[in-house]
Amino acid sequence: MTEHTKVNLLDFDRQGLETFFTEMGEKAFRASQVLKWIYQGGVDNFDDMTNLSKSLRELLKQNTEIRTPEIVTQQLSDDGTIKWLLRVDSGNCIETVFIPESDRGTLCISSQVGCALDCSFCSTAQQGFNRNLSTGEIIGQLWVANKAMQCLPRYDRVISNVVFMGMGEPLLNFENVVSAINLMMDDNAYGLSKRRVTISTSGVIPALQRLKPLTDVSLAVSLHAPTDELRNELVPLNKKYPIKQLLAACKDYVEGAARRKVTFEYVMLEGVNDSPEQARQLVKVLKGIPAKVNLIPFNPFPGTNYRVSSQARIDTFRDVLMQAGLITVTRKTRGDDIDAACGQLAGKVLDRTKRQTRRNADESFRT
Ligand code: SAH
Repeated sequence: MTEHTKVNLLDFDRQGLETFFTEMGEKAFRASQVLKWIYQGGVDNFDDMTNLSKSLRELLKQNTEIRTPEIVTQQLSDDGTIKWLLRVDSGNCIETVFIPESDRGTLCISSQVGCALDCSFCSTAQQGFNRNLSTGEIIGQLWVANKAMQCLPRYDRVISNVVFMGMGEPLLNFENVVSAINLMMDDNAYGLSKRRVTISTSGVIPALQRLKPLTDVSLAVSLHAPTDELRNELVPLNKKYPIKQLLAACKDYVEGAARRKVTFEYVMLEGVNDSPEQARQLVKVLKGIPAKVNLIPFNPFPGTNYRVSSQARIDTFRDVLMQAGLITVTRKTRGDDIDAACGQLAGKVLDRTKRQTRRNADESFRT
């Protein structure tokens, strides 16, 4: 990342910014002032920061910048969902999605360029992996989305919720994700409550354990299967962190936090994980865990062999869980006309894992 030499102020959370200012010989409260300008004021120009002295503004101009991802395209879905393709460096782009609902506006953000995990049903996985996003590139997605929506009169609602359900595995980019979360929840920045920020993870157990003392954002776990045998196939990370240990870590994460539940995501794949018998197995597996279940109809993408379960099959699956007392919601597919639905985000990834090349080679071998 030698493209930029100046310090990006978006890379600092409050603590980082306070340290930065005190090391410059400035008062720590400058951090709150600057946070307010950037995040609440949407300002990216030091001249507009009128409560800072002229000399401090000059100093900041010379040594720092407020660098946000750059919008390449903006697509609007018929259902109001917006998808942005954002350039983060000369070779890589990520995707961010805004989903308006009657009572909230959810921004679905990315944490990495591509993804290093290789879940068999996810289109991001096919793109391979390039790098972690910086704190500034993560929080910058909120900044850019807010700004872009100000120009769309239909979108008078602000971002009320954030979910790490875009590209990447947030718990494999730990430090930057935690700093970005700090900014989301900071009263001088976005001031979101912990219930309105959700990390979605495939289940990186050691990172979950590290997360607990640092923040208590909501947790969603991509389970997708009731047995290790099947989960190994769908979410290969399961071979390292199998279901039983993962669920123990989930239980530990919410323990002590009153009335909190873990949301378990379960993608509905026809003939793979959607039978009533598998629903009963899931009930057994989740026994004793403070759980909610989110059934996600599979969203197809080019090259996949999976198909989405029928509505009847999804309903039966849901009924089995509900009858066992598990709160179960079938997620509404949003923005699929612009490929903005779960698992359809692809961005533009300069793949460093050679996964794309390997996959293409495999395919030509088969034909
Ligand atoms: N790495 C994180 C975030 C991934 S995306 C995680 O694994 O949780 C958020 C959710 O979308 C995950 O539950 C993911 O498994 C799911 N998903 C991925 N591909 C999908 C697809 N094609 N259809 C529906 N959901 C999908």
